Amino acid sequence: MKNYDVIIIGGGAIGSSIAYSLSKRKKRVAIIEKQMIGSGASSAAAGLLGVQAEWDAEDPLFHLAQQSRRLFPKLQEEIRTLSGIDIGYEQKGILRIAHTEQELARIHDIMNWQSACGEVCEAMTMAQVQQIEPAVSSKLYGGVFCRDDGHVLAKDLTKGYAASAAALGCAIYEHTEVTQIIEQQGEVCGVQTTAGMLETKQIILATGASNQTLQQHFEIEAIPVKGEVVCLHSYEPILQVPLFRERFYIAPKRGGHYVIGATMKRGDVTKHVEAASVQHLLNQAFELVPALQQATFKTSWAGLRPDCSLERPLMAQHATTKGLWCAVGHYRNGILLSAITGEYMANQLEEVTNTCNYV
Ligand SMILES: Cc1cc2nc3c(=O)[nH]c(=O)nc-3n(C[C@H](O)[C@H](O)[C@H](O)COP(=O)(O)OP(=O)(O)OC[C@H]3O[C@@H](n4cnc5c(N)ncnc54)[C@H](O)[C@@H]3O)c2cc1C
Repeated sequence: MKNYDVIIIGGGAIGSSIAYSLSKRKKRVAIIEKQMIGSGASSAAAGLLGVQAEWDAEDPLFHLAQQSRRLFPKLQEEIRTLSGIDIGYEQKGILRIAHTEQELARIHDIMNWQSACGEVCEAMTMAQVQQIEPAVSSKLYGGVFCRDDGHVLAKDLTKGYAASAAALGCAIYEHTEVTQIIEQQGEVCGVQTTAGMLETKQIILATGASNQTLQQHFEIEAIPVKGEVVCLHSYEPILQVPLFRERFYIAPKRGGHYVIGATMKRGDVTKHVEAASVQHLLNQAFELVPALQQATFKTSWAGLRPDCSLERPLMAQHATTKGLWCAVGHYRNGILLSAITGEYMANQLEEVTNTCNYV
């Protein structure tokens, strides 16, 4: 029977990043993925590394997110060298836009506490916003330029982690589902999969929004929050940096693509895109950037963000079963947090003290 130091269930950004970190530390790792690498939420994501854009209040996860974002420049080089995959990392900032005076005051307050935490952010009048992005409507109220934020191509990042782990010896089982975790006397000893049994003393659940395996073992529930996205295309450049307004964004991607997202439908586990959602997203986009009305409709998609009943990620060992770990619940920011999650989990498995203060 095949034997690994660590078996990771789930080949999304989280599982693949952990596999990469452990493979760098010379562990014999396997990823077991029931579909294909990156076929869950990780390929639906806009790829924003939005520490400043996403956090409205300071919490321990904010500091972890800061650490994670700092890892991307080096990660881009490592992944390119090991796998040839370009993760599309760009650090041009994110423009947070206000559509009312109250919203402007709110994002200024956020800017103040973030600046005190070392973030570089800058309050901007509408004229200053339009100096950076002339296509933004002058009917808005100004904004904050979040200079340290950036973005990646989420699907390429996920494949990049997995391919880099594979280059270092990690085994990847696609189209293989884990159907049972096998325990003996309070310790894990292997997994039963649709392709047979595999032995290990360490198992990490990185199963995203799926509850099947998680709920059997941990007393938490994964809560899927469906997000629908629209993608437009324009040969004429319209925007340089992502725009963010409350939880809505327009992210310019390579090749003239504009990713517009995303709806938030808690508990909806379907993957189709409703016509009304397309209309809603496009209306918001046109209000913010009227020139997008001349772009071509390219495609739309949906994915399930993995929230969890704890309302924060769980990255820990099971309370009573030795060798059973969990890394789930990264919700809206799993792409951003993937880099630090890999290192954080690898440190925990190796019993190395984490420098990041997240419990
Ligand atoms: C529309 C949308 C936009 C988003 N935008 C951003 C963004 O801009 N920035 C950001 O940081 N985050 C964003 N996110 C969130 C981000 O996508 C998620 O937090 C992240 O992808 C979660 O990764 P994961 O590996 O936990 O889950 P997933 O990518 O869902 O991976 C879990 C994997 O586990 C597999 N699996 C489950 N059970 C089993 C089993 N029993 N056996 C084998 N395999 C199994 C599944 O098939 C799946 O591939 C967005 C999400 C959505 C939906």
